[in-house]
Amino acid sequence: MKDLGALLEERFGLSPRAIHLLEGYEDKTYRIDSPKGRNVLKTHTAKPGVIHHLTLENEFVQALDESLPYDFPLPLKTTDGSKWEPYGQKLIRLLPFLEGDFLAEVTHTDKLLESLGTFLGKVNQVGMSLTPETVLTGAPAWDLQHLPFHKQNLNALEDPKDRALIEYYLLQYDQIVEPWRYSLRKCLIHNDANDWNVLTQKGTVSGIIDFGDMCYSWLINELAVALPYVLAEREDPLRVAGIVIKAYHREFPLKREELELLYYLIAGRICMSLCNSARAAKLRPESDYIRISELSMKQLLHKWISISPEAAANCFLEAAGLETLEFNEADDYISRRNEVIPRSLSLSYSHPIVMKRAAFQYMFNNRGNRFLDAYNNIMLVGHCHPGVVEATTRTLHRINTNTRYLYSEILNYSEHLLSYFPPKLNRVFLVNSGSAATDLALRLSRAYTGRDKILALKNGYHGNTLAGIAVSHYKHKKGISYPDTLLCPMPKAFGSGLPDDGSAGSYFTKFAKELLAENPGQVGAFIAEPVMGCGGQVPLARGFLPEVYNDVRLQGGICISDEVQVGFGRLGSWNWGYEKHGVIPDMVILGKPMGNGHPIGAVVTTAEIGGAFDSGPEFFSSFGGNPVSCAAGEAVLRVLEEEGLKAHALDTGTYLKAAFHELSTRHKALADIRGDGLFLGVELLDPLGKPNTALAQKLKNELRDSYILIGTDGPCNNVLKIKPPLPFNQANCDELIGQMGRILENLPDS
Ligand code: PMP
Repeated sequence: MKDLGALLEERFGLSPRAIHLLEGYEDKTYRIDSPKGRNVLKTHTAKPGVIHHLTLENEFVQALDESLPYDFPLPLKTTDGSKWEPYGQKLIRLLPFLEGDFLAEVTHTDKLLESLGTFLGKVNQVGMSLTPETVLTGAPAWDLQHLPFHKQNLNALEDPKDRALIEYYLLQYDQIVEPWRYSLRKCLIHNDANDWNVLTQKGTVSGIIDFGDMCYSWLINELAVALPYVLAEREDPLRVAGIVIKAYHREFPLKREELELLYYLIAGRICMSLCNSARAAKLRPESDYIRISELSMKQLLHKWISISPEAAANCFLEAAGLETLEFNEADDYISRRNEVIPRSLSLSYSHPIVMKRAAFQYMFNNRGNRFLDAYNNIMLVGHCHPGVVEATTRTLHRINTNTRYLYSEILNYSEHLLSYFPPKLNRVFLVNSGSAATDLALRLSRAYTGRDKILALKNGYHGNTLAGIAVSHYKHKKGISYPDTLLCPMPKAFGSGLPDDGSAGSYFTKFAKELLAENPGQVGAFIAEPVMGCGGQVPLARGFLPEVYNDVRLQGGICISDEVQVGFGRLGSWNWGYEKHGVIPDMVILGKPMGNGHPIGAVVTTAEIGGAFDSGPEFFSSFGGNPVSCAAGEAVLRVLEEEGLKAHALDTGTYLKAAFHELSTRHKALADIRGDGLFLGVELLDPLGKPNTALAQKLKNELRDSYILIGTDGPCNNVLKIKPPLPFNQANCDELIGQMGRILENLPDS
């Protein structure tokens, strides 16, 4: 075979002085220096698909070159007028070397962004005017119409947290983009206006190279592909996108639905780029080129997830001068709600929020505002985590039935869940809520011990059923009291005047001992949360639980740990709160985070206690343990393990606690900072040392106005509750602390 130099001489009339191989994906690209100047030479495999692509590319580039005052890589002809030349198994093409700096190399001024929009609008206008005889499907890896192609590449991504974000957007694509598949406008698009393909001169776009990914796709994909590269590393990505879109729309008007879907398509392109670079990195670990935009795309992905799709749609619609999305006011909802829902179901905040959607640690209201969720412990692995969404919907599409049949989901999940407990706790009853679990635990303890009396803690909360409320001083203190419940004062070291080195614990134990002594041999069970949630994020005083467990057992009772709030690794160092206290209960109540929002709860207990119903009443729950709920529970455990969320809770919680301590040096109102992992409480006192309920409410409401969600609780409602979805990260902690600091600065006496 002739060498390249000789071929160039003979077929293109060039005498190359130097031939440099440039970096690229699959086809080879060379820079040719000759007395006639610089050229680019590209090699392609001579397959029918490639020839089809090159034919259409020539048609498109020719049309662009003829109609627009920009630089395009129009191939140079061979001496006999052909646009390519066979070269062994390959074809070669000679292209002009386009002058200019790449978009990646220059500052993205507003003028430059505007010129990018104008340029892409013009390119697409030409693309739309062509009616190619044959349609060119893009490589599925790079055509946004085929985003689901990347489901198979997810495993190439090393970080499971990145993978979760990508899976999230793949599922959103299925829900939101897919229904438009057959109605979006299509045309030939360049499909790769990335910042190393777009050329600029004197601060405006001057041309584009590399039509290798050109395809017949949704028109809006041109923008979706181009935008991530100008949005990356920008503080205000929506403003930047708005400039490009406005200019584009002036050249070539976009349709409403195209702009409404653009948020998801941009997300799709970011995901696609990350999947492709992860896959390519596995195949060619030595190449840096293929990972060129990985870091900035990753950062953009993590930023994009915190942007409301509604806010993005409105920004894009506004840029195009189209009417923005409509939303209803909270008042409309409140008046409707008051007509049908009793007022005892309270609303949060003085200005309640109309929530529209949520993703991981973020929630979005109907107006497109993004709220940082520092409060919802139910969404343990993150709002709408794709692992849970996918597992539940997949099962729901196949079967949902009850425990009267045999199916693998309940067995897999029960085995997996029980592996988190010591061998003694080896039976599980699955129900649909924490309350149902408490109720069942109390019934079981009665059946097992034959006793009615329950020892519980003041300010505890265990559920909303009749029996649950009976043992929940937190709620029943305002109404009826229950004679069978014996209440021990809340064993809270802070404020007791005793240190939490065992002294406070043994002080509170005395009350339990007295109650047991007054009711000799009558207490069937002792129920307690290891860290009291509704009581105000109170870790039980050190030493209290081991001693009370011992006393209760000595008089023939059993011990129940309510792990509904704190279970599943949230505490960082332990899976379950009882581990913190060095005890093993006889029964454990689970709920809230167990299904990441799917209604599932459980009682985990010993074989003996679990057998208490074996002769006598049958236990059946229509929904408890159904395949869909078990799939949710299993997905939660899998995500916890894969994403290492327990360790993450420890790291993030330690960071946040330290930041609260630092804040408390400037604001004495933050009197006690307590808790473990991502289950923290901040107790607020006034200068006289009294509960500062007003400040707690003010902080909660002002944080809400700064788009951060936290709760307040405790008997005086003066404790800030922080128990976010576990994807909550250090940047989120900084935001929370920064806003709290700002609010406190403006308050006297804080
Ligand atoms: N136990 C504790 C500790 C709780 O916090 C709750 C709910 N707040 C429950 C039980 C009852 O759970 P559910 O609301 O799922 O019935």
